[in-house]
Amino acid sequence: MMNEPLRIAGLLEHAEKWHADTEIVSRLPEGLIHRYTYVDLGRRSRQLANALARLGIANGDRVGTLAWNTHRHLELYYAVSGSGAVCHTINPRLFPEQIVYIIGHAQDRAVFFDLTFLPLVEKLAAHCPGVEAWVLMSDRAHMPESTALPNLHCYEDLVAAENADYQWPVFDENTASSLCYTSGTTAEPKGVLYSHRSTLLHSFAAALPDCFNCSSQDVILPVVPMFHVNAWGIPYLAPMLGCKLVLPGPGLDAASLYELFEQEGVTFSAGVPTIWLGLLTFMREKQLQFSTLRQTVVGGAACPPALFRAFDKELNVQIRHAWGMTETSPLGTVCTLKPQQLSLSSEEQFALKTKQGRVIFGVDMKIVDGEGRALPHDGVAFGDLLVRGPWVVAEYFGADAPGDLTADGWFGTGDVATIDPAGFMQITDRSKDVIKSGGEWISSIELENLAVGHPAVAEAAVIGLPHPKWSERPLLVIVRRAGHEVSADELLAFYEGKIAKWWTPEAVEFVDELPHTATGKLLKTKIRQTFAGYAWGD
Ligand code: ADP
Repeated sequence: MMNEPLRIAGLLEHAEKWHADTEIVSRLPEGLIHRYTYVDLGRRSRQLANALARLGIANGDRVGTLAWNTHRHLELYYAVSGSGAVCHTINPRLFPEQIVYIIGHAQDRAVFFDLTFLPLVEKLAAHCPGVEAWVLMSDRAHMPESTALPNLHCYEDLVAAENADYQWPVFDENTASSLCYTSGTTAEPKGVLYSHRSTLLHSFAAALPDCFNCSSQDVILPVVPMFHVNAWGIPYLAPMLGCKLVLPGPGLDAASLYELFEQEGVTFSAGVPTIWLGLLTFMREKQLQFSTLRQTVVGGAACPPALFRAFDKELNVQIRHAWGMTETSPLGTVCTLKPQQLSLSSEEQFALKTKQGRVIFGVDMKIVDGEGRALPHDGVAFGDLLVRGPWVVAEYFGADAPGDLTADGWFGTGDVATIDPAGFMQITDRSKDVIKSGGEWISSIELENLAVGHPAVAEAAVIGLPHPKWSERPLLVIVRRAGHEVSADELLAFYEGKIAKWWTPEAVEFVDELPHTATGKLLKTKIRQTFAGYAWGD
């Protein structure tokens, strides 16, 4: 067989040649809707590759982005990686100090940013001496009249100055292509460096029927940002299949998303649970329905069963639950049923679908106890989840310490899970969030999932707090749904019959809002701080 290295630019060459007139639609930070095709994406990416060379970006150099999901960000994905440099997507919602740390650690030589982030970048730039070029991803008309930013360039000027004569280089498929940092809620963020090979293999897997199940007939809108683990691979998957791509830019509020879903005929989407909860509330209020959306992949945090049910029954959209992390590119497991399970009752099938699911070929997993001994797949035993595979991290980028792999080559995810006899994995907690009560473990995720099933609950968090007798007990923290009342006793009674009695939260607190991480997950460290020294009462 021919020894053709797997390269990210190959995806673009394919889409340009075979899906030339398929559209890419973006909502831009400047407020416009922009439309073009894969042919335009190919041409402009080559112009951009020439511009990068003119900026002095060489093989292996890191190029940072602080940007929404737009066609320009997509061009950067292809021009940077395709030319042999490393596309480093930075989460703009991180604290400025973390962004400065990440840019320094990655040694980004250039940083491309959207108009939205101009004020942020003006603040950061002085602390990022290694950045030789700051590029505002807009046209001349949107450039600031005056700025303290050194070496500021205009994206559209850079592109316009170049011709599209550029041959994507061919190199070893193990060449680094992109870089993403973990959000570092407990420690400094850590970099995960993907390769062309890992990215392509991940894309093939993502397209499978038991995974995203997409084809050229789909219209995909990734709500998950391109700075959150490469939008879960969608920017690579779409050109591979030739799908129309709809990029929502900064418009991540429910009304803007709904408008794009309907206007562009979106059939498939993906994002964290918070986004879908927001959309559900909006659509209920306005009594709206989707006319084309058929399926969405939900992951990044546990998807509450109530959300599955509402999407299925009220909106006629199937949710596929997926699990993964920055270190796994991110797809690890996806929940789809096997034929043996189709004869189960609809309630049993539903219970199964709320698990995090089965591994995709390419990823293997196991659960182990504290001594590293494998635990049975009985759906009851839970332990540390370990994974391995060609798109799982081997060691962190530029880490001083050796990798986090076990001696026999497995990556410890930091998640605690069960695996049932049919191979369905269920996350019970992150190991840091597990509640250890009287020597037994309580799953905070399960308690949260049940709580959000109550009609008066908008959001719920459960944290373990020190307890004199049981070492730790669960505290339930609730955000009520607007216009709804519910008491602590009613909420505790709601758990009756659904869990072992000793799992019932020790107390309930009501708050106006809960803190979230930069990727929209509950920020439990912060919640634990808020309730530090909590008095349990009687
Ligand atoms: P961070 O949350 O640190 O930014 P990631 O985005 O890589 O990093 O998050 C990975 C973690 O998110 C996983 O280890 C797991 O704890 C959690 N996670 C991801 N998907 C799910 C899911 N479907 N259910 C429960 N937890 C999930």
